[in-house]
Amino acid sequence: MTSSIFILYTGGTFGMKKTKKGLVPSSWDEIINYLPAIKNQNYFDSFNKIEFRYDTLNPVVDSSDMNPESWNRIAEIIYKNYDDYHGFIIIHGTDTLAYTASALSFMFNNLDKPIVLTGSQLPIFHPRTDGIVNLSNAIYIAGHKTFNIDCIPEVCICFNDDVLRGNRSIKVSTNDFEGFSSPNFENLANLEQKITLNHTLINKKNNNKVVLKPNFSDNVVNVTVFPGYNPSALISIVKNQKIEGIVLKTFGAGNLPKNSQWQKLIKACEKNKTIIFATTQCPNGKIEIGKYASSATLQSTCVVSGKDITSEAALTKLMWVIGNYSYKERHDILRQNIRGEMT
Ligand code: ASP
Repeated sequence: MTSSIFILYTGGTFGMKKTKKGLVPSSWDEIINYLPAIKNQNYFDSFNKIEFRYDTLNPVVDSSDMNPESWNRIAEIIYKNYDDYHGFIIIHGTDTLAYTASALSFMFNNLDKPIVLTGSQLPIFHPRTDGIVNLSNAIYIAGHKTFNIDCIPEVCICFNDDVLRGNRSIKVSTNDFEGFSSPNFENLANLEQKITLNHTLINKKNNNKVVLKPNFSDNVVNVTVFPGYNPSALISIVKNQKIEGIVLKTFGAGNLPKNSQWQKLIKACEKNKTIIFATTQCPNGKIEIGKYASSATLQSTCVVSGKDITSEAALTKLMWVIGNYSYKERHDILRQNIRGEMT
């Protein structure tokens, strides 16, 4: 069966070339010459049954230049074309790919098609590139109808031989082809010689129409606690600049040093309506406020436990929740598992 796939190239190592200043993204017209199976669809019989459409973000960027405005632009392009394609692929730099994947997962509700993010550790122009395999794998997931694979109606990351839930993923290596991992959630699919899907974990489609809710607040900070850290500067930011949200990366299962400044921070947050979304610094596991006496400070109405959420999902969820909901609604939505981002 024929599938139609929309590929959005946004930049990243996948399409980068060396310049005197370092690696920079090149144009899709150059890149496609290195993708014979897409350029000449007769190359593989099965790719013959796929209709591809390409578009590029303007300008294409190193993903360190992605920001909420870029997330909105990407989402709007997908939303505008949503009804016309069976699946979407976003070629993206790996550095902030997990942030974009998380942000998109919150923006889109009721997805019934795959939105697959991919990229590579070596450019497509390199003889040992991982880009071709990663993109081909993404094509299988996005073009599921042609390959007789069940649909994964989620924002996911296809990298190396893994399909990961986007908002559960983190970049784990600047070097390995296995560049991403999903430490608290099993792979949605594995692309070995055979493709196997983890059906019990994949979100179920529902019959409601897809909804796009953009808007992100940048009035947030992301703070990692370290031994001896004194949050007094953070307290004055909360008091003076009235930031609306803090992702607080605590020790282990939700612990903070015994230091009266932390109590003061909590008081300042309560007074200024600043939400603390508490997470752990450990890639694996979850926070449990109350497990240790050292987490007692976090027992406050201004704190929401992020349980086993990734840093990337915590930050983008907090920005999105603040961007779209009233103060009263925010706590509830942060607490809920809305897109499979936490257990
Ligand atoms: N700096 C690059 C980027 O994120 C790294 C990569 O794509 O692997 O755009």
